[in-house]
Amino acid sequence: MSNQKDNTFVYKKKSGFAAPNFNQDVVFAFAEDYKAFMNAGKTERECVAITETMVRKAGYVPFVYGTRYNRGDKVYYQNRGKAMVLVHMGQKPLEEGLRVSAAHIDAPRIDLKSQPIYDDGGMVLCKTHYYGGIKKYQWLTIPLALHGTVIRGDSTRVDICVGEEKLDPVFSITDLPPHLAKEQSAKTLGDGIPGESLTPVIGSEPMDARDEDGKLKEKLLSLLHEKYGVCEEDLLSAELMFVPAYKARDVGFDRSMIGAYGQDDRVCAYPSLRALLDMQTIPPHTSCVILADKEEIGSVGNTGLESNFFFDMMDDMAEARGENKRKMYAASKCLSADVSVCYDPNYSSVFDKYNIAQINQGAVICKYVGARGKTGTSDASAEYMGWIRNLFNQAGVVWQTSEIGKVDQGGGGTVAKFLASKNMDIVDFGVPVLSMHAPYELTSKVDLYNTYLGVAALFQS
Ligand SMILES: [Zn+2]
Repeated sequence: MSNQKDNTFVYKKKSGFAAPNFNQDVVFAFAEDYKAFMNAGKTERECVAITETMVRKAGYVPFVYGTRYNRGDKVYYQNRGKAMVLVHMGQKPLEEGLRVSAAHIDAPRIDLKSQPIYDDGGMVLCKTHYYGGIKKYQWLTIPLALHGTVIRGDSTRVDICVGEEKLDPVFSITDLPPHLAKEQSAKTLGDGIPGESLTPVIGSEPMDARDEDGKLKEKLLSLLHEKYGVCEEDLLSAELMFVPAYKARDVGFDRSMIGAYGQDDRVCAYPSLRALLDMQTIPPHTSCVILADKEEIGSVGNTGLESNFFFDMMDDMAEARGENKRKMYAASKCLSADVSVCYDPNYSSVFDKYNIAQINQGAVICKYVGARGKTGTSDASAEYMGWIRNLFNQAGVVWQTSEIGKVDQGGGGTVAKFLASKNMDIVDFGVPVLSMHAPYELTSKVDLYNTYLGVAALFQS
């Protein structure tokens, strides 16, 4: 990887396809597993549920506060069904530092308001409040599935998932025909679609067609009650969301890419998880994977990384072993496993072409993210960048560095700063994504696989 080998002083990025250890069968097989994970987990709750099944199979047991864990022990902490921490105790004491890969499993989507259902114009519609940074127009006229959880009046729970099976109905947000879109078309993309008009159509059959108002809402509520035992008041204690009803699929004649909803950031969560579960031996340092919620809205809440759930767990483990938790954090090395923007030739003007990730050139290291003067980022040190670079080169990981876009064009944030605040070394690392935050995002299989190799290398260090 390093330029010295090429006997030149010029650094050149390499194609993942040209890597000496590249094996297309292995890379494509990994992508198949990833697609299955994506189809089974479209919400953070669903991702936690599949992950819990996977880790239990791999011998992980639920974490219990106050327990003394020893080398080789594998434990997990499941936080309110929406976030997870997995820990594989290493050979060395905790005070010698952790190896952490922190990804998030929430994704932009359309959440239902707590009083969502109304009828108008002979249709039943649903009031929503979108979650995360979306370009609203992208969510119109596509098939949507409804996922989520309702806590009924008697405290029992119902999980809902409609629109994923072949014979399921789907839902859709309508748009104006071009014939009548003169005013709409004159608006900016940002103003064209008001948030209040993201109202999927969910039905149109009246309860009583002879009745003047037809009682459409009543009919729909009666169906919900029949099917799920849910009444309108139950929707006040629910987390329901519309997500694209698309399946993860291969993209391109050569099948080199993957199209799927929610790849930000499950395309980093999955390889992190696999890197931990595939480890056949006890890692040198205690290795952890964090699958966090709420990153897309600022890592807030008790399941986001602004909460202490990960640190409380690790503090407790250090204390139970009589080790110094401050020393543990200070010696830790982490990856903030999150996606990066991929160069898109249709929009070349927003990128600095010398500092933007390109598809198939490997996993991306972002020394910093943030916006306008690096605000809000955890800027990794030269020393840590040097350590990571060396680690990846030794392990044969194909990687590249990147920035989100041109300096004053915009920006973004990740969970890196929350781990850095505990005095841990951390850098952003992950898969470059095309159409980030769109209902259908694109990634490369080669980049996905190199992200897996990168996290695996961290866990072996
Ligand atoms: Zn995102």
